[in-house]
Amino acid sequence: MAGLNGKVALVTGASRGIGRAIALRLAAEGAAIYLAADGTAAELEETAGACRSAGAPDALWGLHDLSRPDAAEAMVAAAHQRMGRIDILVNNAGIRARKAFGSFTHDDFDRLVAINLRAPFFASQAVVPIMRAQGGGHVIHIASQLGIVASRYGAVYNLTKAGLIQLTRSMALELSAEGIAVNAVCPGPISTEGFIAGRNPGELEQRARDVPIGRFGTVEEVAGVVAFLVSKDADYVIGHALVMDGGYIVH
Ligand code: NAP
Repeated sequence: MAGLNGKVALVTGASRGIGRAIALRLAAEGAAIYLAADGTAAELEETAGACRSAGAPDALWGLHDLSRPDAAEAMVAAAHQRMGRIDILVNNAGIRARKAFGSFTHDDFDRLVAINLRAPFFASQAVVPIMRAQGGGHVIHIASQLGIVASRYGAVYNLTKAGLIQLTRSMALELSAEGIAVNAVCPGPISTEGFIAGRNPGELEQRARDVPIGRFGTVEEVAGVVAFLVSKDADYVIGHALVMDGGYIVH
């Protein structure tokens, strides 16, 4: 659908979950992939191999701890140097923290903001001159439905995702005339390790019942939306926050 032969995609948080699925889908569309995460080399090497099997002409990876200042810029520089170009940046890496409002510490706040918001901001800032020199590109921020509606015990996560949606709009206003398309995806509950961790089976069943469609989303469904947003079919979609949540936020 997206037809990405000759394109290079940089996907953050690509070791597992939604980021891995996005990398695999863009690979299947013909893009070469640079995978970034902070975990183990084994996970990234496995994902890189799966990307090559899916159709990527090349798939390289780098360990980048996006909680560190300057890591986002260093990641973009490494990807550009090793891949030769960057046509698509998917800012997917993110962390969660569930705590009562009064329990969040300065450290919690700083870490969530650093990974979920500062890194996408500065990765985008670093990639724009590269895309500008190439004549255009796509930046996709993986936000959340929780950037639009709130949830209990997620005050800091929720504000980082709301920030990503507004960053999407600000970037789109400034960059779309140069052929750099910026959009956000706002998933509802998606079955990933990160989503399931720390939730008991009863809570998960209740959460699934709360979704009008009656189930959690899949990582492949998120990847499909990203593939649409970077395809020619979405050329007129700019500065949009695409909610895909099984209908959750309609009530
Ligand atoms: P996940 O399974 O927890 O995976 C998170 C990814 O981010 C991993 O690849 C992780 O890799 C990477 N990451 C975490 N800390 C990092 C750091 N300091 N530096 C670099 N990479 C780091 O999460 P997921 O459920 O797939 O979610 C992916 C994105 O979608 C997140 O932004 C999340 O907020 C968003 N989202 C998820 C859902 C959902 O229900 N699952 C819903 C809405 C939005 P390492 O640990 O190897 O570094």
